[in-house]
Amino acid sequence: MNRHQLSTEHADLRAAVEEFARTEVAPVIGDYYEREAFPYEVIAKMGRMGLFGLPFPEEHGGMGGDYFALCLALEELARVDSSVAITLEAGVSLGAMPIYRFGTEEQKKAYLPRLCSGEALGAFGLTEPDGGSDAGATRTTARLEGGEWVINGTKSFITNSGTDITALVTVTAVTGRRGDGRPEISSILVPAGTPGFSVGQKYSKVGWNASDTNELVFEDCRVPEANLVGERGRGYAQFLRILDEGRIAIAALSVGLAQGCVDESVRYAHERSAFGNPIGHYQAIQFKIAEMEARAHTARLAYYDAASRMLAGEPFKKEAAIAKLVASNAAMDNARDATQVFGGYGFMNDYAVGRFYRDAKILEVGEGTSEVQKMLIARELGLPA
Ligand SMILES: Cc1cc2nc3c(=O)[nH]c(=O)nc-3n(C[C@H](O)[C@H](O)[C@H](O)COP(=O)(O)OP(=O)(O)OC[C@H]3O[C@@H](n4cnc5c(N)ncnc54)[C@H](O)[C@@H]3O)c2cc1C
Repeated sequence: MNRHQLSTEHADLRAAVEEFARTEVAPVIGDYYEREAFPYEVIAKMGRMGLFGLPFPEEHGGMGGDYFALCLALEELARVDSSVAITLEAGVSLGAMPIYRFGTEEQKKAYLPRLCSGEALGAFGLTEPDGGSDAGATRTTARLEGGEWVINGTKSFITNSGTDITALVTVTAVTGRRGDGRPEISSILVPAGTPGFSVGQKYSKVGWNASDTNELVFEDCRVPEANLVGERGRGYAQFLRILDEGRIAIAALSVGLAQGCVDESVRYAHERSAFGNPIGHYQAIQFKIAEMEARAHTARLAYYDAASRMLAGEPFKKEAAIAKLVASNAAMDNARDATQVFGGYGFMNDYAVGRFYRDAKILEVGEGTSEVQKMLIARELGLPA
């Protein structure tokens, strides 16, 4: 991938997802959102388009594309709606990717084809009630007993974990102590329906209302020893890698929301009149929209840059954190400004900008808060941890 120009394949994919989002998602998603219902039909269509298999090889049921392709799809979906975009993001980058990157051949064969087709969803359980940013403070435990992991603990805010098509959640758990006394953290795959694994409370959320988020409870939940994902004790390093990549995906999703705010505002500025002129006639509105476009554009360049470094096999931790930081800021700022352009209608649920406003805030929190991104950037600059 050229850092600033799309290949024909990427441009075609982008166009196909743009059309899908405009014609198949936009007309129906507001209703799901208001009912706080999971949009199974829309997700199934996304599965048939191959979106859940985008970055995976064909031998695993994927499309043979790359992570940048996933990011382009996320941007185009989030231009219209973030609930379906986060369902795709979490399904691919948190659900399937740990298995693809670190799983055994058996685990890949058992799960990847269904996850790639979108017929099944995977989830990633890292956050706990006592903390998400300090992932090293994991309290969930897994002890080996008679060839099985016995898991106890609670995970909070886990995306895609309680739908009718959820197949598995990969959880991080303390599996022992290291020589230096620090906890040994490993990742373990728990199939949905395993006795002792229950989906707890459904949250009442401010945004992402057509996506699925749940608390998960593990009480003496037993899975085979072979369900370890990757090496024992490497769980911490593994999820850091998964989160570095995921930040580029969340940045792409944020850019989509920021661009959706521009799209809606430009349209409305032509349509709405005040004091005898379309409001787009007034420079105050033009400048607001121009700033929104500038934010979306610069944030897009930031995630393109991080993605191209990642695909080239270069270090990308700092660039991914920068992309996530600036893109989530752009999404928040644009959502606030777009709502202002819409005046009172911006506060109504019938208008997409109202949804954008409610959906923007979580982008500064999920997959590492803005403070965590700044900590990562500072560390990459050699400042003390
Ligand atoms: C809708 C939704 C979906 C989610 N999906 C998932 C999922 O699929 N899987 C998953 O594992 N998690 C998921 N999360 C959890 C999310 O990743 C965490 O909420 C996030 O990482 C922050 O953790 P926390 O909520 O525990 O906040 P805390 O870690 O308690 O932080 C609270 C505040 O303190 C700040 N802070 C913390 N430490 C420092 C420090 N050292 N210096 C400066 N400031 C600091 C934080 O930036 C934040 O502002 C989801 C959350 C939501 C709301």
